[in-house]
Amino acid sequence: MPKGTEHETVNLGLLALQVATLGKYAASLPAGSASGYLAGYLIGTLWVTPDLDLAGRRERPRPLQNWGLLKALWGPYGLIFKHRGLSHTWIVGPLTRALYLLLLAQGISYGLSMLLPTQELGFGFNLRGWLLSPTGAGVLTGYFVSQWLHLALDGIRPTRGRTHG
Ligand SMILES: [Zn+2]
Repeated sequence: MPKGTEHETVNLGLLALQVATLGKYAASLPAGSASGYLAGYLIGTLWVTPDLDLAGRRERPRPLQNWGLLKALWGPYGLIFKHRGLSHTWIVGPLTRALYLLLLAQGISYGLSMLLPTQELGFGFNLRGWLLSPTGAGVLTGYFVSQWLHLALDGIRPTRGRTHG
């Protein structure tokens, strides 16, 4: 099983290839999609990876270290998902982390609105509209590709269900 740093090294190495390819075709892509892709890919390489399922355990994988003090935010995720279980599946796994992040953001924005009731926080974010935009679609694509590289390196096939296979 590759350690977190190996995942990071492989993903970042392949990023160089992708930047070269994207650079070639960027002009023909919808505005914002290439930069969105790179942002999603980096987020999925450095911070939001399948190994966040190790949160709260003795092992400290690289992505958790990258969160610094905020790594505690992923404690519940590590409690809910066993290591290399559902978190390490190709479609549902990445979605669990995206939804977890969304819930965290909701909780934080709710907490802030309680603390600062008179402030206009501007959290009226249109998620659906954003996901359908070239930037949103690019971020989501880059995020999924980064997760899939992680799973491929872990030796997990796309056809895998919940358990090791
Ligand atoms: Zn893994």
